[in-house]
Amino acid sequence: MKDEIPSTQISLPVIDAHIHLAGLGHGGTGCSVSSRKFNSVMFRMMRWMLGIYNAHKTGRLDQEYLEILDREVSSAVANGALNAVVIYAHDHIYSENGEVQNSELYVPNDYVFACAERESMRGRYLPAMSVHPYRRDALDETERCIERGAVAMKWLPNSQGMDPCDRRCTAIFELLAARKMPLIVHTGGEHTVTVIRPELGNPETLRPALDLGVTVIMAHSGTRSGIFDDHWIDEFCALARKYPNCWGDTAAFCTPGRTRWIPKLLREQDVVEKLIHGSDYPVPVTAWFALKELGCAKVRELNRIPGILERDIRIKRALGLPDAVFTNVARVLGAEKLRRWFVCGENLCQ
Ligand SMILES: [Zn+2]
Repeated sequence: MKDEIPSTQISLPVIDAHIHLAGLGHGGTGCSVSSRKFNSVMFRMMRWMLGIYNAHKTGRLDQEYLEILDREVSSAVANGALNAVVIYAHDHIYSENGEVQNSELYVPNDYVFACAERESMRGRYLPAMSVHPYRRDALDETERCIERGAVAMKWLPNSQGMDPCDRRCTAIFELLAARKMPLIVHTGGEHTVTVIRPELGNPETLRPALDLGVTVIMAHSGTRSGIFDDHWIDEFCALARKYPNCWGDTAAFCTPGRTRWIPKLLREQDVVEKLIHGSDYPVPVTAWFALKELGCAKVRELNRIPGILERDIRIKRALGLPDAVFTNVARVLGAEKLRRWFVCGENLCQ
């Protein structure tokens, strides 16, 4: 079966490539969040905004988080904004010598597969594995997850502590390249989880993966989020121009720190073609920081859209991101992975 999707395809699915799962392990999910992180101002705010502030008290936080995401996805699909989303596992932090560390966040690969396999959400979820390359079983676990149907690998180097230039990554990159498995890597500043090595947000660290032929999706396109973050958008743009296998996502671009990068990227026409859509759910989304470009009436109209996923797409479209940004995910993943999870633009499944 051919994997490439022809550019003349008229009905490519719109896919959100950047969705986080989370939980406390309720119902045997295996997920965890450290109590320090769970009670932090940022997490309290997100719990409140999602309507699960006290869900941990009834022992159903994991289930309620997933039910809310299911409703988000279903309403965005019903309103014609979206077809499917990529959901992320999140591996533990591992030390330089391969020992597992106390992580503030953990989402097991098997939980992500179980969520994607539910009959009730068939065709809506695409699972992305997370395997720390310093694990002694990193290659075996990556292989296992590919066999089980992972559509990508997700890393957060500045918080999970993997250095993509470390020699242990080479064998993983070779495996990912051979199996046409994209690597989605956080680049730029990070504020939701604690950063342990800020320099690993630099897109330049992904050169070894790009040189080995891995399709790399640089989450956040190297952009700064906070005031004091390092700033790597120019490095991202240079790599996106040089490497056909280098892409960037638009995750969290509708937040206070990042909306400003959309007009900047729109001026770089050859880079815009290398962008793929991602929301960074459950990060809150607002149009207020596009007031200058969109005007007050449009901002208010967009902010009234109740679903985060749909609001994020409609704000980005209103700011001028072209159709291709929303369907590039399908092209980058390839038809075979989409069929495996029944994500079928009408023409893909024939
Ligand atoms: Zn994210």
